[in-house]
Amino acid sequence: MSIVNFEVGIPVDSDGYIEMECDFCKNRFMLPSNTFQKEEHLHFFCPICGLPNKTNTFYCPEVLEKVEQSAMNYMYKEVEKTLGKAIKSINKSGFIKMSIDIPKQEPEKELYTPANEYEVVGFDCCNTSVKVQYIDKEIGVYCPLCGDAKL
Ligand SMILES: [Zn+2]
Ligand SMILES: [Zn+2]
Repeated sequence: MSIVNFEVGIPVDSDGYIEMECDFCKNRFMLPSNTFQKEEHLHFFCPICGLPNKTNTFYCPEVLEKVEQSAMNYMYKEVEKTLGKAIKSINKSGFIKMSIDIPKQEPEKELYTPANEYEVVGFDCCNTSVKVQYIDKEIGVYCPLCGDAKL
């Protein structure tokens, strides 16, 4: 078996933010996708409780599901390509007739609609921003990159 590398787009909202969930406080917020996809950011501070955790612990289940879905769709396409070719040559030989039945793909959603209403909070310290719910913004949030409180 060879390992197939492919890119799976993580679903983002119309502003390019990804919805995430903190494993400690179970609160949700959104981070700009371009910030957290940078390789140097292996962990983040939760903007709401301020605790740092590994980036991959922040993914929401629905987001992971969408990633899985696009991985499946990719796989189906690949299977169709390679199997399709093999079957054509078998059919050409005239001895056996074969066909493949690929399960119907689930339609890929392009944009992600977050579960909550969010407001943008900017951080001058690290020149980044987060989206949090109104109530969290009122209480005060932490910079996801350096963990500084913004009240
Ligand atoms: Zn938290
Ligand atoms: Zn900062």
